[in-house]
Amino acid sequence: MISRPPDFMPKSSQPAAHHAGWRFDNSYARLSESFHSRVNPTPVAAPRLVLLNHRLAHSLGLDPAALSGLGAAAYFTGNQIFLGAEPIAQAYAGHQFGNLARLGDGRAILLGEHRTPAGERFDLQLKGAGRTAYSRGGDGRAALGPMLREYLISEAMHGLGIPTTRSLAVASTGEPVQREQPLPGAVLTRVAASHIRVGTFAYFAALGDTNSLRVLADYTLLRHFPDRVQSEHPALGLLEEVIERQASLIAHWLRVGFVHGVMNTDNMALSGETIDYGPCAFIDAYDPAAVFSSIDHHGRYSFGQQPRIAAWNLARLAEALLPILHPEPDTALACANEALESFSARFQHHWLAALRGKLGLFTAEPEDAAIAEELLRWMHETRADHTHTFRNLKPNAHWENSAFTAWHRRWAERLARQPQPWPEVVRLMHAHNPAVIPRNHEVEAALAAATANDLAPLERLLAALARPYEEADQPDGLLNPPPPGTPACRTFCGT
Ligand code: AMP
Ligand code: MG
Repeated sequence: MISRPPDFMPKSSQPAAHHAGWRFDNSYARLSESFHSRVNPTPVAAPRLVLLNHRLAHSLGLDPAALSGLGAAAYFTGNQIFLGAEPIAQAYAGHQFGNLARLGDGRAILLGEHRTPAGERFDLQLKGAGRTAYSRGGDGRAALGPMLREYLISEAMHGLGIPTTRSLAVASTGEPVQREQPLPGAVLTRVAASHIRVGTFAYFAALGDTNSLRVLADYTLLRHFPDRVQSEHPALGLLEEVIERQASLIAHWLRVGFVHGVMNTDNMALSGETIDYGPCAFIDAYDPAAVFSSIDHHGRYSFGQQPRIAAWNLARLAEALLPILHPEPDTALACANEALESFSARFQHHWLAALRGKLGLFTAEPEDAAIAEELLRWMHETRADHTHTFRNLKPNAHWENSAFTAWHRRWAERLARQPQPWPEVVRLMHAHNPAVIPRNHEVEAALAAATANDLAPLERLLAALARPYEEADQPDGLLNPPPPGTPACRTFCGT
């Protein structure tokens, strides 16, 4: 029997997911073929929907019932294609641990851009959907555990109020993927402001393709920074905007103890969203040198290095943009350097604002940075839990540790020099210091249960992390530091 392609089927025979409210408009696919290559997802044996993000679906103007109904799972593995999608793999490069490589979507397929009823535009991408022109030696696939992990951590970041790609669904494939051992395969449906990376610019710069570079800059400006399109030097405006968003993003990461783990330039989005959740994790004990990734032997991407690495990545973006920053090469270089030099001050501004919030300071005094640094130093020395310490700061508490008592007095005196009453101070602190974060031991336990078909612990974690600044009814395992003897978390790339 010859089966007809889905688009020719009578509408009634298509699953509801096909028409779940999609409004695709695929502007990236309309760029020339140097930007991408057309590719269909490779069908899998037995699609099964594992998680659907009902709230996200709803906020995108999609019908969650249609997306979880009969036949929907096939769409979330790429066996079927949503109405209006035009699958492509995007071309990009990336500095991996410092070395430029030609990459591209090796296992991710961009279905297209969905426009919400409110007029916002989001990329819809299937991660783990099969081989593409950029797969090199890879199988184009992803394992269930890591895809659930990305879903959980990205949604936790969103709950924390931090710009991030989102996760709409995870579907299992019914096929094993071969890693160190065979693992169940899965596809993640990722929603992003866009997937334009620092490495996308590096790709065209390395090819010497100035024309495409200009097209990409114009496209990115129009999509993310429309106010800058008409400016005299739009490419410089683009660079400045991206620098500002990254400065703000990294301050957020430090505020909640997030370690991205693999800040290669292909994993830095121009939109300012956190992207590519691989070997990421949250710190428990405060330690600037904290590293979780099993391959980051020199701590290049350790917790405290992240501002420096962001600046390094932004320098690679500036370098790539040089040919279009200004017609005069010397002026282009001077503009690039001036923009890059602003990163440090921008980051310090956001970081100090975050620290003031964490310490309940409404007013600004020159001493504030030193007060915060003294606390962080004490936390480092005593390996205090980052989340728990900040969340439980109280000016009238009594401490056994004398160094902490000294700091505590200094902080209480500082609080007394501002007019805000204590309840207002608490409100400010609670808005900057989450009560719960995705603690590694809880994440690992929930993922282990989920891969053994028990989703309940993962659902509980997701519910808790959707309201991380609230303490009431939160699980003890998330509210408290890990019990003594909990093994250190190790995370893996190439998941
Ligand atoms: P990542 O570490 O996830 O940022 O990926 C780095 C590069 O490797 C990207 O170009 C990915 O598309 C590619 N890649 C990662 N895993 C696979 C895989 N299983 N098959 C093909 N390409 C992959
Ligand atoms: Mg990546």
